[in-house]
Amino acid sequence: MGSITPTTSSSGENHSSVPSPVVIIGAGVGGLTLAQCLTKLSIPFQIYERDPDCHSRTQGYALAVHTIFDRLTEAFPSNMPPIRETVSHLAPLFHLPTQFVMYNGLDAKGPFESDSKRMGIETNEENKLLRANRRRLREWLGTGIDVQYGRQATGIEEDAKGGLVNVKFKDGSEARASLVVGCDGTRSLVRQYLLSGKPDPLQDVPIASIVGEVELHGEDMIRQLEIAHSGAVIVHPSDDPGEYVMNFVGLNEVRPDAKSALFYWLVYFHIGEDQAPISRAKYKEAWKSPETFLELALEKTKRFHPAFRNVIERTEVQGIKFLPLVLRDLVLKAEDITPGRVTLLGDAAHCMVPFRGEGGIRAMEDALSLAGYIERIVKGGEDIQEVMSEYQSTLLDRGAKSVSESRQAFEHISKVWTQGMPPMLLGYPTVPIPKRKIVI
Ligand SMILES: Cc1cc2nc3c(=O)[nH]c(=O)nc-3n(C[C@H](O)[C@H](O)[C@H](O)COP(=O)(O)OP(=O)(O)OC[C@H]3O[C@@H](n4cnc5c(N)ncnc54)[C@H](O)[C@@H]3O)c2cc1C
Repeated sequence: MGSITPTTSSSGENHSSVPSPVVIIGAGVGGLTLAQCLTKLSIPFQIYERDPDCHSRTQGYALAVHTIFDRLTEAFPSNMPPIRETVSHLAPLFHLPTQFVMYNGLDAKGPFESDSKRMGIETNEENKLLRANRRRLREWLGTGIDVQYGRQATGIEEDAKGGLVNVKFKDGSEARASLVVGCDGTRSLVRQYLLSGKPDPLQDVPIASIVGEVELHGEDMIRQLEIAHSGAVIVHPSDDPGEYVMNFVGLNEVRPDAKSALFYWLVYFHIGEDQAPISRAKYKEAWKSPETFLELALEKTKRFHPAFRNVIERTEVQGIKFLPLVLRDLVLKAEDITPGRVTLLGDAAHCMVPFRGEGGIRAMEDALSLAGYIERIVKGGEDIQEVMSEYQSTLLDRGAKSVSESRQAFEHISKVWTQGMPPMLLGYPTVPIPKRKIVI
């Protein structure tokens, strides 16, 4: 099928007439990771992003990145700022370890009594847990990368003779490349191109979410951090027999003066037609306004200990995400996407529900591995189709495993935990987390 010929075009050059060895579509965590790896390998590329700049749209809150930061540091240029200090969501409260704590909503003692049941995970010598604020992580990943912002890809064409791929943008411009990588997320245009008319396997998952954001100040902030520094998971029976409500409350970032902090929460519950008809009907009813979503979140958590509910009660209607997050996942099969000069990584190839917190990590892992395959093509002169076939097979296997484990994680956390057994969290066994007073 051919190889990739390096050109003199350097990273970020905006010459649509000069073909680049690699064009990356999408500057999320996956696309930026690939850009850094290619920079380190001195392989020219161009990266295009539809948003007008890095901060124009909130792309989520926080990501746990500890499992791969050694690999990132190795694969990235040596002039990157230190990751831990730059991206931590706890900055400037560096004395607090990253920490997730789970609570059984049925435990009437709540979070603050000495014998309340707090199980979780926190940073230690073995796991080096690190939770990144997403905005800071994207800034860090973008160090020295010349992203072409405001360039939304709208079409792809392959020129069989010339061995090049043409990417068309909304503004009428075009770019040509030997290899195009779709890092364009859940609703990927590049995936649609590769599917070439076959049905898209992206599917809705019957779990509802209500999402809120709130800034807490002073004692309120300290109490919330004492519940869990990074993320609290509270599980409680739902209205439907045998079903559960899961509330995740996460720290997004602490203000520089450490007097207030931004938190976000997600109330999740099943809405399957057969499984949870009561919740399904209430959720359908709430799709009217942010007010009705806030009311439903309060109703769903009404039996929680007041300390767990405070963060929802403090949320203003303006803090409710309207429309809410629709949970989806996607498993592609090898025959869905023929290996060649156009490929995928991250959510574009395998988006998943967030209950193991690993979609972003998988996107970065895909990028780390793809960079090695691209090196074999560009520097080793190996055949694109053969190498991409190898890459796509590992991409899809790894993705399918994560998609399935992420779905199971909701059931695992709800059922195992409410039966009194310590569940796994982010892939680690949970341990008792002693209650500690926070002094700021
Ligand atoms: C509530 C929630 C919590 C999560 N928590 C975690 C967690 O703790 N840990 C974790 O690892 N993962 C987590 N995830 C998953 C994680 O957010 C995603 O898996 C990750 O963002 C995927 O990265 P990506 O680069 O593939 O796609 P994205 O981050 O979606 O980036 C895609 C980029 O492509 C751009 N784009 C799209 N279309 C085009 C186009 N046509 N032209 C140009 N640009 C385009 C978009 O603007 C975007 O910048 C969570 C997700 C959710 C919803």
